[in-house]
Amino acid sequence: MSQKISGSVCLNHPNVPALAHCATCRKPVCADCVKSAEGIQCCSDVCLQNALASRVVVDDIMRRKQKSQFKALLRRLVILIVLLALAALAWHYKEPLQNLFKQGKSKAEELSKDLGGQVKGAKDSYQKELDAKDAQRKAKQQKKYGL
Ligand SMILES: [Zn+2]
Ligand SMILES: [Zn+2]
Repeated sequence: MSQKISGSVCLNHPNVPALAHCATCRKPVCADCVKSAEGIQCCSDVCLQNALASRVVVDDIMRRKQKSQFKALLRRLVILIVLLALAALAWHYKEPLQNLFKQGKSKAEELSKDLGGQVKGAKDSYQKELDAKDAQRKAKQQKKYGL
């Protein structure tokens, strides 16, 4: 029996075309040989039992998946409620928060001004240092070449 024929004719009746493939082992079976229950078609009672059992397992997995999806949804809902509560709280304490923010902002501005001054001072002194070094080098060169 070649592979090609075994794919299209019944496992038990080589002259009869296969009606369905076994849900468990994928063997081709004819209308006489097929064992079916609850919409599942199999080549034997053993395969049918296995198919029914595995369907129960699959159903269980699906149910668990749905449960976990529901849990995830619930978690998202809780997070949303917490965020809304925080937003409401923030709205309630809007003015003190704004004042705090303004204070912080003016302080930051002061600080940045200070820092800017410091940076400028540092830059100036560095430039002075560079100028002094330059002058020194020029003086040395002038001495060296007798200028
Ligand atoms: Zn089978
Ligand atoms: Zn058959």
